[in-house]
Amino acid sequence: MNEAFPSEQGEGCRNSMRKRIFGSIFLINMEQQTKNIQQGKVYLVGAGPGDPGLITMRGKYLLERAEVLVYDYLASPKLLKYVPKDATLIYAGKKGGSKHTHTQEEINQMLVDWARAGKTVVRLKGGDPFIFGRGGEEIEELVKAGIAFEVVPGVTSATAAATYAGIPITHRGYTASVSFITGHEEPGKKNSNIDWSKLATGAGTLVIYMGIKNLPIIVDNLIRYGRDPKTPVAVVRWASTPEQQTVVATIDTIVSRVEEAAIKPPALIIVGEVVALRETLDWFEKRPLFGKRIVVTRTREQASELVTALEGYGADCLEYSTIQVEPLSSYEILDEELDRLNEYHWILFSSINAVQYFFERLYARGLDARNLKGPHVAAVGKATADFLLHYGIVADLIPAIYTAEGLAQSLLDFGVEGRNILIPRATKAREFLPETLRGAGAQVTVVPVYQNVVPQGGKEQLRSALENGQVDMITFTSSSTVTHFLSMVDAAGPEELKALMSGVKIAAIGPITAKTVTDNGLSVDVQPEAFTIPDLVNAIVHYYEKAEG
Ligand code: SAH
Repeated sequence: MNEAFPSEQGEGCRNSMRKRIFGSIFLINMEQQTKNIQQGKVYLVGAGPGDPGLITMRGKYLLERAEVLVYDYLASPKLLKYVPKDATLIYAGKKGGSKHTHTQEEINQMLVDWARAGKTVVRLKGGDPFIFGRGGEEIEELVKAGIAFEVVPGVTSATAAATYAGIPITHRGYTASVSFITGHEEPGKKNSNIDWSKLATGAGTLVIYMGIKNLPIIVDNLIRYGRDPKTPVAVVRWASTPEQQTVVATIDTIVSRVEEAAIKPPALIIVGEVVALRETLDWFEKRPLFGKRIVVTRTREQASELVTALEGYGADCLEYSTIQVEPLSSYEILDEELDRLNEYHWILFSSINAVQYFFERLYARGLDARNLKGPHVAAVGKATADFLLHYGIVADLIPAIYTAEGLAQSLLDFGVEGRNILIPRATKAREFLPETLRGAGAQVTVVPVYQNVVPQGGKEQLRSALENGQVDMITFTSSSTVTHFLSMVDAAGPEELKALMSGVKIAAIGPITAKTVTDNGLSVDVQPEAFTIPDLVNAIVHYYEKAEG
């Protein structure tokens, strides 16, 4: 893993040796000396076209080690999460047409200065840094200044736009050549670098970057220099992102079609017979949840399964953790129970969190799965049962319906009279299960093993996403996600809540969660028959398929 910074890794190793052998004063002196002779390095990294998943592994590896990150408007903001928290982040801007945040000269100088200060600098650029990215100019400056550098290529927006619009950029039946062209040149520029007389018919496929503003001039040139006006053209905006928008026409109609659709940069123009293949090969924009913005409200740790599944169907997920799971300040009560587990007939786990915190404490007390030899173990659902397996426990009972009601019914069927039952769970939880079992003659001990708290971060973003109508649907996977969500939104009253939620659909994983939604004056649009994440996702997909016919 240390190929990128062999000298620094080696240094770290030696430092820790020194620490042990010579003590701290000597170490500080050595560090100061090495700092003086150390110079940083600049990594010019291609971020890919927009989808954060399209960065290279090398690019991600370098982001994770950046001390300074200088990034562009076209690089996905979602990539910033890979950068260490203490890194310096500099937005270099550069949005076509608008005021540049920094001039190119300033950016060049910045890279040199940070590297001279001994920093590991990642210069992140949209697409590929050497394709219309001025990457060459930035590197020339580094060479002049004697700064070490490395360039990591990226997926350029031309290939991404073509792929994500369902257009094979070359195809044996259509074309064997492709040109990448800039459409940014000032009209009427003398000594133009673009020779349309050669380009118009010179390659089967033409991909034009930065050409939206000059589209009418480009079209004129293509026709003037002999390209068939009926050649298909696609214009793809924000390719590979949830905002992707594609317009297809022919050379002689594309200008008006782009105007009608009000397409603005960043967009690419793809000219050539291959564009016709989109009709059969389009896939990205056809995914059932494409363009839908869905809020996911689980705990940070558990959100990924739902997010991955929804994104697989094309949704744009906005993740807000409405619940933060935290350990308790004291485990005295649990400890007493752990020491007498053999007195129980049943232990009931109604969540993954309960399993995790229960076993962490068990291990902390020097115990393990062997101490659960006596009691039977029940899990509320399959996910909890699967999680128990990590700790060496096969659940003896999983109810047919994955709720507290389902679990209670299964246990009643089993017979619980006179049985000793332990329920490890959150500090605040419904009393249904213990009360029902007590009613049937069981001795039930409820013991808190973790707590759910409302996280402090994210409140403002969530409110403004709702206020700006940026949310199509909200998913709730437990009653506490609903109540925590409501406390995060912090509406002044039912009227304001209704206004904020107007047009927003609600998906609830099961009947209890749905009831909490309706108890709070909102209505549920989607509810799966079985209470699992895959079923919830399927129900959401079906909902939109039906709604959009
Ligand atoms: N180095 C970049 C290109 C930078 S030039 C690359 O390799 O992709 C900026 C132009 O790239 C924009 O004006 C637009 O034409 C194109 N572009 C970049 N990202 C895009 C995207 N996601 N969708 C459509 N066009 C994009």
